[in-house]
Amino acid sequence: DALNEYLDLKGNIRVFCRIRPFLPQETFGFQKSIFDLDFSNVLLRVAETKCKKYNFDKVFHPNSTQEDVFSEIEPVIKSALDGYNVCIFAYGQTGTGKTYTMEGNSYNPGMVPRGIKSMFDQAEGRSCEFIFTFSMLEIYIGNLRDLLASGTKRSNFQKPPSLLIKTDSEGDIDIENLVAIQVNNFDQVKKLYDIGTRFRSTGSTMANSTSSRSHCLIRITLTSIGARERRREKNKVWMVDLGGSERLLKTQATGKRLEEGKAINLSLSALADVIDALQTRKAHVPFRNSKLTQVLRDSLGSDSKTLMLVHVSPNEDDLCETICTFGFAMRVR
Ligand code: ADP
Ligand code: MG
Repeated sequence: DALNEYLDLKGNIRVFCRIRPFLPQETFGFQKSIFDLDFSNVLLRVAETKCKKYNFDKVFHPNSTQEDVFSEIEPVIKSALDGYNVCIFAYGQTGTGKTYTMEGNSYNPGMVPRGIKSMFDQAEGRSCEFIFTFSMLEIYIGNLRDLLASGTKRSNFQKPPSLLIKTDSEGDIDIENLVAIQVNNFDQVKKLYDIGTRFRSTGSTMANSTSSRSHCLIRITLTSIGARERRREKNKVWMVDLGGSERLLKTQATGKRLEEGKAINLSLSALADVIDALQTRKAHVPFRNSKLTQVLRDSLGSDSKTLMLVHVSPNEDDLCETICTFGFAMRVR
């Protein structure tokens, strides 16, 4: 009914905060936690006698497990089976745990493996049949790169085919030539994910030696056969490990690194502009300002579910970046 429809629309962007634990190497130094927190608020000591309070839909403290985080995300993943488009983002400065949350490791798998497994499990229990496809791409200095386009040979990756973003007659976004491989179970996804990971652009900055200077996007499409109650026949789930949000000074970037950093900062602020415009129901939503927002155009907004997982470090040395990250979070919330 109308009320449910309204409530449904109202709650489609959620902003969660995850604070990573201190790393073994950090505890040797003089560090103290700068936080006080409860289930939805973070108190940040921004100066000796000054605290600032930031409100989130949910805060995960440093001891939170992948299970804890996933239990809050699973309902959103489930809504994909009902035909919603879904976008899940990991945002934060390099080294705050974005990849840990999304990918995790073999002992502590992250949201991508858990989410995909959950979708397969959910599909089993439905009366209609689902076809899933898997794609993986990155956005690197404003270029879309298909991470599955080269097969398994790195040598084929010298000139990756450039991808064009198209809008079809229904207003759906299509990325021309993007490889989308039908997958029937999680093992197949895992194989593709491992291949895609090998083709990512990584570089070393002083902030983190293997930091990723690009956005990595995973796309799952779901097509239903014989479903009557779904919102649409075909929908998408995006899981995005965003490039590090740190400002350029800290990493002492020059040349290529500087260019990469600038491109990331531009696209992150374009993303904030789009989400802000959607949240405040502005007439004009500036999707065109970055490749990131162009690609996600039909998966952000009133009829989709968006989850922003904002990551911060507990380290006092990172206070400035943490303040910036919370500034971003409050803009999109
Ligand atoms: P990012 O992708 O944001 O640059 P990473 O995910 O690579 O950050 O995390 C940086 C380091 O911190 C890694 O060694 C990672 O294993 C560790 N780490 C991050 N978050 C957690 C967490 N919640 N629990 C344990 N270790 C974590
Ligand atoms: Mg990472």
